[in-house]
Amino acid sequence: MSQIPKVVVIGAGWAGLGASYHLVKQGYDVTLLEAGAYPGGLVAGWKTAGGRSIEAGIHGFWYPYSNIFSLVKELGLSPFTPFTRSSQYSPFGLEVESPIFQDLPQLPTPLGTFLYTQFKRLPLIDRLSALPLLYALIDFDNSDAAWRRYDAVTARELFKDFGVSARLYRDSFEPMLLVGLFAPGEQCSAAAALGMLYYFILAHQPNFDVVWCRGTVGEMIFRPWVERIESNGGKVFTQRRVSDLKLDSAGKASGVVCGDEVFDADAVIFAVGVSGMQKIVSNSPSLRSHQQFQNISNLGAVDVLATRLWFDRKITIPHPSNACFGFNQTTGWTFFDLNALHDEYKNETGTVIEADFYHASQFLSLGDQELVPLVQHDLATCIPAFREAKVIDSSVIRLPRAVTHFAPGSYQYMLPVGTSIENVFMSGDWIITRHGSWSQEKAYVTGLEAANQVVSRFGRGAKAQIIPVETDEPHIQAARQLNQTVRSWSKILPDFWLP
Ligand SMILES: Cc1cc2nc3c(=O)[nH]c(=O)nc-3n(C[C@H](O)[C@H](O)[C@H](O)COP(=O)(O)OP(=O)(O)OC[C@H]3O[C@@H](n4cnc5c(N)ncnc54)[C@H](O)[C@@H]3O)c2cc1C
Repeated sequence: MSQIPKVVVIGAGWAGLGASYHLVKQGYDVTLLEAGAYPGGLVAGWKTAGGRSIEAGIHGFWYPYSNIFSLVKELGLSPFTPFTRSSQYSPFGLEVESPIFQDLPQLPTPLGTFLYTQFKRLPLIDRLSALPLLYALIDFDNSDAAWRRYDAVTARELFKDFGVSARLYRDSFEPMLLVGLFAPGEQCSAAAALGMLYYFILAHQPNFDVVWCRGTVGEMIFRPWVERIESNGGKVFTQRRVSDLKLDSAGKASGVVCGDEVFDADAVIFAVGVSGMQKIVSNSPSLRSHQQFQNISNLGAVDVLATRLWFDRKITIPHPSNACFGFNQTTGWTFFDLNALHDEYKNETGTVIEADFYHASQFLSLGDQELVPLVQHDLATCIPAFREAKVIDSSVIRLPRAVTHFAPGSYQYMLPVGTSIENVFMSGDWIITRHGSWSQEKAYVTGLEAANQVVSRFGRGAKAQIIPVETDEPHIQAARQLNQTVRSWSKILPDFWLP
């Protein structure tokens, strides 16, 4: 082995950049290989031929994204808006308005969420039907045992079994699943649903508060971050699609194959999404020889559509971020007022809207000229002034099989950070971690976890300090403790029933 360990990181999203940045700071020889033309992964942004900024969907940064907020501070950046309020719309109009929860008197969770969220139509009796579900939230503690208990069940079955009303499910929980997990309840793991809802909404009153980048994340965070990685000696190569891994006679990774090039490696970190990893494994005899990697073929990914529309006039939009439900049976969508969020559009004479559609397979085959009127129609259903406005420019980005599908039964096939190849590590938003975070924060955290395993392996440098999610509130801790005691008693019973 060379004196300075060579680490090859594959994929330049949050996970890959996170791992690379930590390792270059610790003096490793890091090469980051990215298949796309720009770093950033699902969060990459670029300019159209006409010079307009676009990106693969707008990304929010929720209150508990402590590791990302800490990184941005370390990089000396200030890319974010203040915390913003949000709305939810259905075909009947405005349904919900959310306040900025951290500004209101703090109540023990979930009281603040329950009392401060302004439901315009949902009757109290429906909202109260969520109460029994609290038991499942207590019982699901993000442990391996809890994932195995709940992952085989669909989120819809879980809500049904706990007595959630049809209307609360349809008007509140399913929209959250479509936006948070990109799939309808009957296609989501109950474990993923409980983990996601607890992290983003229920663990602490301010958790649902969110900020946005004041431009594309690519320009405001990734560009300076990549420059920092390079100035620390890291090599970042775009348009390098990895196709295979070379193993030595002891079964350890010794190189990464990328077209005609081979990059020597003492350790490898994969930081690609599910469908990217499936393609690599299907091309790679060395990875295919490991059961763990073969099993990745059992995982799924979800289609997403990101559109940006420029309108000829200013339209008043009450809140900058909006989630919508009930427009399509199994598709959720969000729209964002970019005049309010992005510096670039503050003084625009017209309105700039980003509208993103999740679980949007039925839209991907449509042409732009078919999609743009559909988007305008849905926007006009929420805010009638869009009906008269004229679309003067548009961008449509189709993202087939782009985001992780947390399908029922998928947990058993997801990989942990350490793999059966001792110097190959995994990272990304679909990798198993006990941290408790989701989405971008999870991708970044698993990147740091993979970097830490490299540090442990070579004993060079310091481990990244990963900020844990805020501890449970005292009453939740007490309820979880009690629940675990009762569960431990039940261990004396024969292991006869399904978990
Ligand atoms: C429309 C949309 C909206 C979203 N909204 C939010 C949000 O509001 N908040 C939030 O936190 N999250 C959001 N997400 C999810 C978030 O984007 C992901 O959780 C996160 O970006 C995942 O990062 P990652 O590093 O794990 O993977 P990715 O970002 O997928 O990066 C993987 C990288 O690997 C590269 N790659 C793939 N195959 C190869 C190969 N063979 N060789 C080399 N490179 C390869 C890819 O090109 C890609 O750059 C959203 C996603 C979408 C699509």
